[in-house]
Amino acid sequence: MSVAGRVARIGLGAAGAWMGYAWLPHLLTATGTWRGPASSGAVALTFDDGPDPSWTPRVLDILAARGARATFFVIGRRAAAAPEVVRAIADGGHEVANHTWSHRSLWFCGPRRTHEEIARCHDTIGEQTGVAPRHFRPPWGMVNAAMWRALRRTGERCVFWSLQPEGQRAQSAETQARYVVTRARGGAIVDLHDAEGVAGAPARLAAALPAMLDGLLGAGYRLATITDVLAGAPASREAR
Ligand SMILES: [Zn+2]
Repeated sequence: MSVAGRVARIGLGAAGAWMGYAWLPHLLTATGTWRGPASSGAVALTFDDGPDPSWTPRVLDILAARGARATFFVIGRRAAAAPEVVRAIADGGHEVANHTWSHRSLWFCGPRRTHEEIARCHDTIGEQTGVAPRHFRPPWGMVNAAMWRALRRTGERCVFWSLQPEGQRAQSAETQARYVVTRARGGAIVDLHDAEGVAGAPARLAAALPAMLDGLLGAGYRLATITDVLAGAPASREAR
């Protein structure tokens, strides 16, 4: 075989191995959680990429003013740098969940790094809150084959989302609030960002949140944690 042919074959082999490790496991995302039961009558707001020392407390104030509970998928490295913010989240009655240690895409993490990314954040949250996190969200929703094994070890469920008012492209606060309020259903899981990823995201979120919460509460939804929404949220935990 020519050198060019050999290089092409190695390239195809590597591409095939990567497809099998990073892409094919996406077929398994059906085993992840995308929404809760409609009968819960609740919406789960989820905040990714924090904690952020200046934005997360503002989000907590907006939630507290309305008696809303939510789930924060924190980045372990940021949690370790702002333990008082993690405690404030937990003290507010919210759920703290795992969003990896460093927010590296799992598409580019081997099995060992994948396990470390998940286990290190899991352990940090457990030490800070005294409660082992039960839910995990992969950065950008990108999974690999090793992730499912690592989650079996930490005992976490993989949670995606059913509504994402702002993805990689910035959306105005008004657009975000309207998007969520008009599309929400019982059991919806809303993906929001209380820290910088897309530029300016937390400022737009803080502006969108009051109208988003008031719209959802006005429509009769309870605003609850992922754990509560997936459990069907008993009435005694009424958030309003
Ligand atoms: Zn993220």
